[in-house]
Amino acid sequence: MTTPGTASAAANAAATIERAKSAPFGSVLADTMNLAFYRDGAWTPAELVPTGPLPIHPAAHALHYGSECFEGFKAYRHPDGSVQIFRLDRHVARLQQSARALMLPEPDAAQLSSMVVSLVDRVRDIVPEAPGSLYLRPLLFGTMPNIGAAAQPSNEACLVVLASPVWDYFAGGMKPLKILVEEQAQRCAPHLGRVKTGGNYAAAMGPTLAARREHGVDQVLFCPGGEVQETGAANFILLRPGRLLTRSLDSSFLHGVTRDSLLTIARELGYTVEERVFTVDEMLEWVRDGEAALSGTAAVLAGVGTLVRGGKAIQVANGEVGPETRRLREALVAVQQGRAPDRHGWLTRV
Ligand SMILES: *Cc1c(COP(=O)(O)O)cnc(C)c1O
Repeated sequence: MTTPGTASAAANAAATIERAKSAPFGSVLADTMNLAFYRDGAWTPAELVPTGPLPIHPAAHALHYGSECFEGFKAYRHPDGSVQIFRLDRHVARLQQSARALMLPEPDAAQLSSMVVSLVDRVRDIVPEAPGSLYLRPLLFGTMPNIGAAAQPSNEACLVVLASPVWDYFAGGMKPLKILVEEQAQRCAPHLGRVKTGGNYAAAMGPTLAARREHGVDQVLFCPGGEVQETGAANFILLRPGRLLTRSLDSSFLHGVTRDSLLTIARELGYTVEERVFTVDEMLEWVRDGEAALSGTAAVLAGVGTLVRGGKAIQVANGEVGPETRRLREALVAVQQGRAPDRHGWLTRV
């Protein structure tokens, strides 16, 4: 027997998941968030509090000098009812690395992991079943109230973890993407490429909106100096039967956890995985009959159907989402959703 209270909680959770199915990605938030502050050289104990506005001083460092970074990853409801977080350790380590690059107080790995786990546990009722998931968004920003601190690190910070139930990215079908090849503009400052900071997104927004307007594309593939890098929010991968080519890791772009996971799975499936610098010309040669795709947490792997270069549209193979893209995506999603064995200890059970 359920009490009236728990019955209405279950009804609320079901209604939240129902809303997430038709809402834009990330627009439905859990009603609880996890919050900690860095003050006087130490982190306060984390507190689960209602999701809502934070008191922030208008002189806060992040608002003036951009001391902000974040993470994005997912928890999945498995067929056995358990909830499992995908590659939590990698995302925690990446937030720590971003914090170091921006001279922000570095969150303790154990504390941040436990903030994520305790939040997921608290809101577990709103973790949708496959193909949905719970998107997790830790955010760290400098709160030191000093507008004269342009060249000083923030000695105070706020760390908050948000959760958002999301539905299948491709609920409306896997539409092939149209991508502009940008050979001049950079996505961000080269030494900040691997830092997940809002400033990089702000920097890419102008070129991306202009490309949408002028060329009707979905995204911009940044290829400064003619070398293929990544798009505004996703890594770039070339595929053909038995082969995968992607840029080797360097400081110029974001080291995606999805990218790393796809490369691991591709090797297991017997693909030859090449990580190296390659040019726009080599990419165009590849896509005459090979595939191109974008990788990231939200969509996992999204096929590219058209590249636009110098105002000219170039079809990628037959212009559809290709079989290698579908195969690799499905292989990774099966592990995330608990339909294939977790051979690498990627999942954290909550
Ligand atoms: C977050 C992000 C990615 C994808 O990283 P994942 O860990 O795979 O989600 C790729 N590029 C940029 C610029 C990003 O911010």
